[in-house]
Amino acid sequence: MTQHRIAILPGDGIGPEVMDEALKVLRLLAEKHNFEIATEEFPVGGAALDATENATPLPQETLEGCESASAILFGSVGGPKWENLPPDIQPERGALLPLRKHFGLFANLRPGVCHPALIDASPVKNSLIPEGFDVLCVRELTGGIYFGTPKERREEGGEQIAVDTMVYRTSEIERIARVAFQAAMVRDKRLCSVDKANVLQNSVLWRETVIRVARDYPEVQLSHLYVDNAAMQLIRYAPDYDVIVTGNLFGDILSDEMAMISGSLGMLPSASLGSPDDDGLNFGLYEPSGGSAPDIAGQGIANPIAQILSLAMLLRYSLGENAAADSVDKAVEEAISAGYRTGDIFSGLETEKRVNTSEMGNAIVERL
Ligand code: NAD
Repeated sequence: MTQHRIAILPGDGIGPEVMDEALKVLRLLAEKHNFEIATEEFPVGGAALDATENATPLPQETLEGCESASAILFGSVGGPKWENLPPDIQPERGALLPLRKHFGLFANLRPGVCHPALIDASPVKNSLIPEGFDVLCVRELTGGIYFGTPKERREEGGEQIAVDTMVYRTSEIERIARVAFQAAMVRDKRLCSVDKANVLQNSVLWRETVIRVARDYPEVQLSHLYVDNAAMQLIRYAPDYDVIVTGNLFGDILSDEMAMISGSLGMLPSASLGSPDDDGLNFGLYEPSGGSAPDIAGQGIANPIAQILSLAMLLRYSLGENAAADSVDKAVEEAISAGYRTGDIFSGLETEKRVNTSEMGNAIVERL
């Protein structure tokens, strides 16, 4: 029997609450799909700052636990208690960024999905998205303007100036383009590359490289948009898009826009992946797109679906357990279609049943 090892990092706020539901799902899947799962839990974020003597949001023990696993299932980190700490030890900056860097997680996959039954939760007019939409945003995560150097503030001519540097290498663009083309191949075979090639040299290289990589994927229909236009087109008619690929800065913004128009952050998973191994599997960190939601933490009312769908992505990309991943996606759809709604996606219709975190988890487990 195949044995998989997963590092579980629940973190802060609603993290541990929604993680419990994902673990319920995981235990059942292992039984039904005949694989063994070894999970080990490690502290991260504010929870780690509170638990460790030398106050670090990413203790060495946690890093080593992740190193010996095939994937990381991450909850969320941060909250008001820790937001005035020095930047380097703040939960998000001091835990997530080092994890991405340490494991070379260069590809961020964020599905922006609006389920047809949840179009009322989207701020976009129902008439524009009668069938909902399903767009996958592939964002380059370790390059571009967030990491380029020089990055500094200095004084010049008696005033402050701030410098950030945008750098992309062909190899970085090529590897993220391949991730996006491969994702498009197993979806609707449409890829839109987003850049700002009318202004930025980086984007000219981005576009040339994506066009060159496209020759290896002749079945995929490739299009290009400038980022300002993309921001508008996604709101105008998201169903026009299947997979979007873009750099770090543009992807940060567009993936949040997609989350917003999807209706609820509580529904959206994400995956941050490294390079695939010989079997095509990636080491990855999987987490909900939202944060630790301090406004509802501790009440047992958070939506666990983003965490459960993050588990489905983990099963697919890091463990190759595609049948188990498909069954999770299907069970979530069925629970939504049956009317189960946590507060964030409840719109008061008679067909809906308002449930709490564990009731939503149970509704999904029952359908597996
Ligand atoms: P947030 O995503 O935590 O919350 C935004 C809104 O979405 C809130 O109203 C929240 O209740 C709601 N929401 C989010 N997830 C939900 C769920 N599963 N079910 C129901 N409602 C949900 O963003 P924020 O308020 O800007 O940040 C709160 C904290 O989270 C901050 O400390 C921030 O730094 C941290 N954060 C962490 C991550 C991460 O761990 N990757 C990401 C974003 C923010």
